[in-house]
Parts: sequence; C-alpha cells; structure tokens
Amino acid sequence: MAKIIDGKAVSAQVKESIAQETAQIKEKYGVTIGLAVVIVGNNPASRIYVNNKKKACEAVGFESFEYALPEETTQEELLTLIDKLNNDDKVNGILVQLPLPKHLDEKIVINNISPDKDVDAFHPVNVGKIMIGDYSFLPCTPAGVMELIASTGTEISGKECVVVGRSNIVGKPMSMLLLHKSGTVTICHSRTKDLAEQCRRADILVAAVGVPNLIKGDMIKEGAVVIDVGMNRLDNGKLCGDVEFETAEKVAGYITPVPGGVGPMTIAMLMKNTLTAAKTKLGI
Ligand code: NDP
Repeated sequence: MAKIIDGKAVSAQVKESIAQETAQIKEKYGVTIGLAVVIVGNNPASRIYVNNKKKACEAVGFESFEYALPEETTQEELLTLIDKLNNDDKVNGILVQLPLPKHLDEKIVINNISPDKDVDAFHPVNVGKIMIGDYSFLPCTPAGVMELIASTGTEISGKECVVVGRSNIVGKPMSMLLLHKSGTVTICHSRTKDLAEQCRRADILVAAVGVPNLIKGDMIKEGAVVIDVGMNRLDNGKLCGDVEFETAEKVAGYITPVPGGVGPMTIAMLMKNTLTAAKTKLGI
C-alpha cells in the first residue's frame, strides 16, 4: 500500500518558514510584503481561489490588495491597473486570476505584468528563464510538485519521470524542473500512443491532464511516486484527480490524494515567489 503524501502538512511547513522570514524582514527593514490579486468578473471557482490566496497572505504576514473588477472591464482599464501596480512600491507580487472574461486578451495582460512582480511565472521572460534553469520565480504548481517529491526523500537524478500533460502552466514547466534535476523525462499528451505503456516505465509519474481517473493502478510501476495534479469536479460535486486512487494506491510507493495533495502546495509556492520578489527588491 502506498504512503500518502500529505500536501496540507508539507504546505503548512513551507508557509511556516515563509512566515518566519517575513517577520524577520519586517523587523529588520520595516517592510510589509504585499501581493496584489486582480479578479475580473464573477467566476465562482476563481472567487474561491482568490479567497484562499488572501487567507494564505494573512497566514504568512503579507498584506493582500484585492482588485475585484466588474465583468465589463475593458482591456485598457485592466492594463491601466496593471501599470499602476507595476509602479506601486507596496506591491511585490501581482497575480491576475485566470481565466479572464472572453473579451480580454490574457496574453497581452500577462505580458504587461512586470517580470519582477510576475509571481505566477507566466510572463515570457520568466518562462524563458525556466527553460535555461536560471529562475527567479518557479511556476507555482510544478514547484509544489517538486517539494512533494522531495518530501518523500526520492532522488530524481537518473530516474524515469513521466509527465502526462503538456500545458504551458503545468506539464511543460514540470518536465523542465524534473529535467533540471537530471530525471529522464518523457512528456505524454492526447496523441501519445499507448499511454499505459509509457506510464508503466515511470519511477516518478506526474498526471496533469484534467480527465477524471484516467490513470489506473495497472498503468503504474510497483513502488512509483505518483503525483496527481488533476482537479476534476464530478457530477456529484466531488473533486477527483486524474489518477484512480483506489487502484493506484495498491501499487504505488507514494501517492498524493485529491484534494489535499498538490492543491495546497500551489498556493504555498505563490507565497514563496512573493517573498522572493520582496527579497530581490531589498537586495537580500
Ligand atoms: P490543460 O487542459 O491545459 O492540459 C491538459 C493536457 O492533458 C494537454 O496537454 C492534453 O494533451 C493532455 N491530455 C488530455 N487528454 C489526454 C489523454 N486522454 N491522454 C493523455 N493526455 C491527455 O490542463 P492544465 O495543465 O491546465 O491542468 C491539468 C489538470 O490539472 C486539470 O485537472 C486542472 O484542474 C489541474 N490543475 C491543478 C492545479 C492545482 O493547483 N492542483 C493547478 C493547475 C491545474 P494535448 O496537449 O495533446 O491536448
């Protein structure tokens, strides 16, 4: 039976250490670290994410500035706000909650966030840095996955790592982080032939697909570390991952649950990036 990787516990440890450093910075430099969160429209899932991010800010001692804009906000109005936040000394990190309403161009909005305050690491400058391994900010979800793998004591170097999913926010940067740790990385996607065979080679398997229970126990190598990034809402209202937990936990060595695995880590990493932004600005 697999050991369960407790994302809530690992995330609590990360946030505790951020809180300590934040308190020290406040004492030594008299600076309160600030995160601006911009939400446009009334998407209920986005609202929940934004509230969770605000709570996390409070927990680590950051000030959060929320800008809740109406659905009909124009691109120009949003860019004017971003420009103001780019130039606001109290704001160390800027997060624009995605998805944006259809009439707004996410790419243009992200490109207008100062790379120094881009704590989601979505700006092309930061994406490029991830590629060459010279990063200021790590992309939050993949960075959280790396912390979870580390918490198992598993060495990545030389291991077969299979990432299912190639999105810009999870799959691709995830693969890069594993590669930088010298894993032998295979990236699978919707055109991959024989996904089961690819997955069965994995010592470390990361599923970031968005298809409930796609990966079954018989697709997993005995003793593998299985990280389930998927967050899928079923018709009965329950959350489930991309991995079929009941069959997978009988084979895997370590496995993350959904919820309570990767989700809490993503927010902890957002806090870590905001702390990094503040430290860089202070020259520490
Ligand atoms: P995307 O939809 O952007 O990407 C999904 C990827 O999965 C694509 O590369 C797609 O391939 C691939 N894929 C789809 N179907 C299959 C299949 N049958 N076999 C193999 N590959 C397949 O999703 P995201 O990366 O944004 O998110 C993935 C999941 O992670 C979602 O459930 C999302 O909710 C969750 N998530 C969780 C987070 C957290 O904090 N826990 C944060 C972000 C996301 P192709 O490119 O060929 O279309």
